[in-house]
Amino acid sequence: MLYKMMTQLPSDLLPCLIETSPHAVVIIDQDRFVKCWNPVAEAAFEIPATEAIGSVIDDLLGLDSAVSANSRVLRLAETQTARKSGRAIQIEQFVHRIPVEDQQWTIAYINDVTVSRAHERRLANEALTDPLSGLANRRGFQNQLETALKGKLTLAIIDADNFKQINDRFGHEAGDTAIQHLATQLVECFPDAVCCSRLGGDEFGVVLKTGAMPETQAEFEILRQRITSRQPQQHSFSLTVSIGVALSNVPGTAARELLTTADRCMYRAKAAGRNQIVIQPINV
Ligand code: GH3
Ligand code: MG
Repeated sequence: MLYKMMTQLPSDLLPCLIETSPHAVVIIDQDRFVKCWNPVAEAAFEIPATEAIGSVIDDLLGLDSAVSANSRVLRLAETQTARKSGRAIQIEQFVHRIPVEDQQWTIAYINDVTVSRAHERRLANEALTDPLSGLANRRGFQNQLETALKGKLTLAIIDADNFKQINDRFGHEAGDTAIQHLATQLVECFPDAVCCSRLGGDEFGVVLKTGAMPETQAEFEILRQRITSRQPQQHSFSLTVSIGVALSNVPGTAARELLTTADRCMYRAKAAGRNQIVIQPINV
């Protein structure tokens, strides 16, 4: 097949295929000596062909697993390697082992995926983050909650009191500042939380590993007091919150039960006059 393809082409074109490839193309012989190192490989690894050709591949890149594998065509898991300058890069390798004249040759097509993977990670992170507060958004909160569910968890829902009035009287920008202020208080009060999140609007969620009931109550009381005593600068509104807490002593309590219990507690705190905490233990 390969032969049939090539007979239609002038032989001078063959090196051009390697030279102009958008991938780094590296060819090594069965003793692992580099025999071909194209311009993209030079740029990706910051090693000129004059230095690479004739070197042992492992000394250059440590592509150990690629070259020792038995199968003929491999799409290898992505790995990290270092450039000559020491900078780590993420590479994706497609490795072919080809027998020619009693020798096993290895051709590796290598892509530098450092930038694209970093971009993908940033996008994935953005999808789980609330841009205004910098906290996890509802989806991020759900993910982290599900991951932690095996243990005993305490989940709190914190909702700002009469927030619409703040927007109406002081403007939406002042409301935004208040949301950022709440997020800061939350993170400062619960630095070891499993997750602090802005669930949406003026509603926040905190997940903690369950501790003793009196201590938990005291921690949320500190949060409530901090919010009332430290108002955002440049604004004269008085921000308060209502806090509902589901404190589970049962490992593996379902996320839905934690959320609905905390939500119900928060609404009881609102109904009881706002600016207060209602805690409910879950024991069975
Ligand atoms: P309650 O004490 O019952 O919670 O009363 P509330 O006025 O706080 O009512 P509620 O929590 O239902 O309303 C939240 C308001 O938050 C509704 C919306 O106008 C406002 N809001 C939601 N998202 C944002 C935002 O990103 N920025 C600002 N400034 N306001 C927001
Ligand atoms: Mg509210």
